[in-house]
Amino acid sequence: AARFAGRFALVTGGASGIGRAIALRLAAEGASVTFTHLPGDDAAADTLAELRRAGPGASHHAEAADVADRAAMEAIAARAIARAGHLSLLVNNAGIQVEQPSDALDMDRFDRVIAVDLLAVAHLSSRVIGHMAQRGSGAILNISSVHEIVPKPGFLSYSAAKGGIGNLTRTLALEFAGRGVRVNAVGPGATVTPMNAGWTGDPERRRVVEAHIPMGRPAEAAEIAAVAAFLLSDEASYVTGQTLYACGGLSLY
Ligand code: NAD
Repeated sequence: AARFAGRFALVTGGASGIGRAIALRLAAEGASVTFTHLPGDDAAADTLAELRRAGPGASHHAEAADVADRAAMEAIAARAIARAGHLSLLVNNAGIQVEQPSDALDMDRFDRVIAVDLLAVAHLSSRVIGHMAQRGSGAILNISSVHEIVPKPGFLSYSAAKGGIGNLTRTLALEFAGRGVRVNAVGPGATVTPMNAGWTGDPERRRVVEAHIPMGRPAEAAEIAAVAAFLLSDEASYVTGQTLYACGGLSLY
């Protein structure tokens, strides 16, 4: 059965990687999907075409905006809700990663990671969750990381943002548990996406990363999308406030 038939989803950062895999999975299972992408991202048109092939029975849209642009994101959320009359699913996926030594932080780069990976998630969730609660149903999924609980030297901004995602997920989940809205997170480990192009395409560096992963290989984006779809679906109807780590065992160290 199509788990998302008649559902309307908004996915941020959906033109590549994990966001794209989630958007395609939701569409393949019946959802109408609006995804956001950075202005000027050439991959967006291809993704939209693929969505229309994956879910020909529903209506899909692409919206260009920086997730840190609050006015633009409010307009996108309002348009998504207006198009369908409601929004059932929100996936906060857009994210960036910056590596820099913690004793020499470039605070502009630090602030940008917090703005994109954490503040934008709080903002968009806030603007959508009241609407879901009014309808008495909805699900929000935040893309966290294994670094929500496993620190990574040099990734202070990223680890701080993803740690924040965990607490934001639990707090929203508790606040809205009695009003029909579930809020969960997925914590991927190393996943083959453009974010990791630096090592996935370099055999030597890839071997080093793989040697560190208990399962001995990175995830494909579709494996993360499968977990995301479960948490967004009614099969997870009694699950809220959780981060599910899909990380090949990295969280076990
Ligand atoms: P990716 O770079 O392929 O995808 C991120 C997408 O978000 C891109 O399409 C990018 O254009 C978009 N984006 C970036 N900044 C944006 C902004 N300010 N506004 C709008 N869109 C923006 O990388 P990915 O690996 O698919 O990452 C998706 C999410 O998964 C991120 O939150 C990332 O932190 C998380 N994650 C990834 C991994 C991994 O190993 N790839 C591991 C754990 C968590």
